[in-house]
Amino acid sequence: MQDFKTSRSAWNEYQAEDQSEQLLLYGDLVRRLVPGKKVRLQFAVITKAKSPKVQLLEASFDESKLDRTKRVFESVWSAISAGHFYPAPNLMQCSGCGYRSQCDAWRGNSNQGSVYA
Ligand code: SF4
Repeated sequence: MQDFKTSRSAWNEYQAEDQSEQLLLYGDLVRRLVPGKKVRLQFAVITKAKSPKVQLLEASFDESKLDRTKRVFESVWSAISAGHFYPAPNLMQCSGCGYRSQCDAWRGNSNQGSVYA
């Protein structure tokens, strides 16, 4: 199973392992759909440069990491379902965010509701 990524710079093996949560979930889904099939997880990283390069990096199928990823998703979904939203400033995301005025108005009052409502 390959996940294609674009990047400004080349990845290393650590980045491949670090970014593997989504790939693990896809791999788990494939295992369920095709029982017994050996699933290999691999990133195909295309470096966006004058001379693009393609790297193939393996990610290990780590059951404990897969389980942790599922628990994180469950927690996030539970928070979303319960309407628990709060600002999580991020230099990359805030500049283009369409909820900035609601976010700036947020004062942490649980009766105020969601930043995104
Ligand atoms: S809601 Fe928007 S502006 Fe507020 S923290 Fe999140 S990304 Fe940044």
